[in-house]
Amino acid sequence: YAAKRGHLGVTMYNPEADDHSFERLSVLGELRRAIETGELELHYQPKVRTHTRELCGVEALVRWRHPTRGLLGPDKFIPVAEQSDLMLPLTEAVLAAALAQHRAWLNDGLRLPVAVNVGAACLLDPGFPDRVALLLREYAVTAGQLTVEITESAMVTDAARAAATLSALRELGVRLSIDDFGTGYSSMGYLQTMPLDELKIDRQFTAKLRSGPSGRAIVGAIVELAHALSLDVVVEGVEDEETLTTVAGLHCEIAQGYHVCRPLPADALAEWATKYRVFA
Ligand code: C2E
Ligand code: MG
Ligand code: MG
Ligand code: MG
Repeated sequence: YAAKRGHLGVTMYNPEADDHSFERLSVLGELRRAIETGELELHYQPKVRTHTRELCGVEALVRWRHPTRGLLGPDKFIPVAEQSDLMLPLTEAVLAAALAQHRAWLNDGLRLPVAVNVGAACLLDPGFPDRVALLLREYAVTAGQLTVEITESAMVTDAARAAATLSALRELGVRLSIDDFGTGYSSMGYLQTMPLDELKIDRQFTAKLRSGPSGRAIVGAIVELAHALSLDVVVEGVEDEETLTTVAGLHCEIAQGYHVCRPLPADALAEWATKYRVFA
């Protein structure tokens, strides 16, 4: 029917565009249900100290176990959710699950500080810190065991309001990390105005470490900047031993990436952690 449409020259009704909006609405409806019924699950990726290789925490990464489409990564539904009112309930579900898991591991004798990704919707919601406090109490988790990872873009819409939320979270004792540093709406200004504890170097810089001296210069400079501001540095996307050695040499103290371990379901992560401690 393409010929038919071409013949008309102009299309009054664009079935393709309609499909997309229909698809979007149906994804949102399904996602709303998925949050309620627990179809979202968390995988956990270890963070290790570069010098001792000691396991020092995990990042919780959300996945959607969709009844027909299989296991969906966050790129398949977070951007859609961000255009809706679903990010608050989604993030709270993720926080609750991550804290419950941290507590369950603790009861098994495994102490794994946990990091959760938090976007703009939560930072612009003045009620968010109180709900985090409630969840910490509910699962009897010390605030310092929780790190909130913020992407720089989350601070763009209303920096003052985001800063107020971050200060309230920090007052609770929650650790704050700036995620994917150096990408997107990158601004050094945030390092001055946000009460941060940690900086995560985006994996696009990690990937360039092997391609010559400029990659090392950039990562080295970010590490120095972070240390001058008393921030811990995590380098993400470490995919081989050479890179791990390189970032250790650049005084980056924490690493995360496929070379250490891929994100794993909770049970598999606990098993990995137990074996890892034996061989570390
Ligand atoms: P992120 O927070 O920067 O998380 C790191 C991403 O890099 C994860 O992708 C992880 O699987 C991937 N990764 C880890 N190590 C390596 C490596 O060595 N090489 C490569 N190429 N990739 C690696 P994932 O799980 O697909 O998550 C993508 C993004 O989705 C996250 O980026 C985060 O921004 C967002 N996200 C994940 N979970 C949540 C959540 O619960 N809430 C919100 N708001 N965003 C989330
Ligand atoms: Mg993150
Ligand atoms: Mg990141
Ligand atoms: Mg990243």
